Amino acid sequence: AGDVTCEKIDVPADEGPTGIAYSERDPETTRDLYVADGIGCHEGNPRRLLAELMKVRKNIAPDSALYAPNIALPENVAMLIYLGVDILDTTRATIAAFEDKYMTSAGFIHLDRLAELPCCCAHCSGTSAKEVKDMDKKQRARLLEKHNIAILEAEVALVRQRIRSASLREYVEGRCRHNPALVAMLRLSDAEYDFLEERTALFKPAPLLATTSESLTRPEVVRFARRVQQRYTPPEKDVLLLLPCSARKPYSISMTHSRFRKALGKNLKLVQEVIITSPLGVVPRELEVTYPAAHYDTTVTGYWDAEEHRWVGECLENFLLKHPYKHIVAHVEDEYRSICDSPATRHSWIRNNS
Ligand SMILES: [Zn+2]
Repeated sequence: AGDVTCEKIDVPADEGPTGIAYSERDPETTRDLYVADGIGCHEGNPRRLLAELMKVRKNIAPDSALYAPNIALPENVAMLIYLGVDILDTTRATIAAFEDKYMTSAGFIHLDRLAELPCCCAHCSGTSAKEVKDMDKKQRARLLEKHNIAILEAEVALVRQRIRSASLREYVEGRCRHNPALVAMLRLSDAEYDFLEERTALFKPAPLLATTSESLTRPEVVRFARRVQQRYTPPEKDVLLLLPCSARKPYSISMTHSRFRKALGKNLKLVQEVIITSPLGVVPRELEVTYPAAHYDTTVTGYWDAEEHRWVGECLENFLLKHPYKHIVAHVEDEYRSICDSPATRHSWIRNNS
């Protein structure tokens, strides 16, 4: 609601939920709601906006609601909610309407530039772009306001649905592309691994779709790679068998993996199987059914970009530095082979075997 103010919601504790404007000087953590006053000023400054949001979110209780006034736009609400905002308002939708700005999920379009109304909401479907342009200023602003609020509310409803279906991150990765500042915010927030990791579910009942370059840095992916590196202890074997990933998960039920395992027969128990994959890095066979190893899907073209190459290569190097093997058999080709065959990978293995 655009007309909520902190005075109105700051009611005595015995009269139900209470809220207050967040203040760094007076850090109180017992309220049900905190208002991130002035946060809208940082909309165009992703670094500052992220820092402000993180500061409030870290200092208030996890179940206290965070209200970010005067900032919600259809293109940024998914990101704001992903980063911990609970309550938004329609202030920007109303201001835009009085500036003849027509909101879409991909940003504003000035009414002058609209040849048709790209919307089927109740307010747009009964009229045309020309009719709206011909309206007097007040009538036009009222119609644009109703449309802008409708499109904003539809976007928030979709975000709620993506939360229910445990796929908000995928939506945020796609949604931010219309605005460079939002892409920056996604990348900067991924660099804040500790902040995101403790707020990211350990398991999600939905596939993890790795379709953008930021999929490599999402907390679930980095967490899996770190845990393989830091916590996993493989059984003691002399031979490491490196295999490429498969589209089918878990890998062992795929045609290629099951044939390979069958061909190895009783020798299978003598080797440590490790699967090389993007974006997870390396997946020991024992962990192939854990989240997200059995739950991810990625874009497969046969081409790996430099970042993917570097990330997966580093995961393999770290694995080889930690666990010594007398022999390594890499049953791989193409990009997988160039990762296994790289000087850094060979160096890691030799260093741990000399
Ligand atoms: Zn509309």
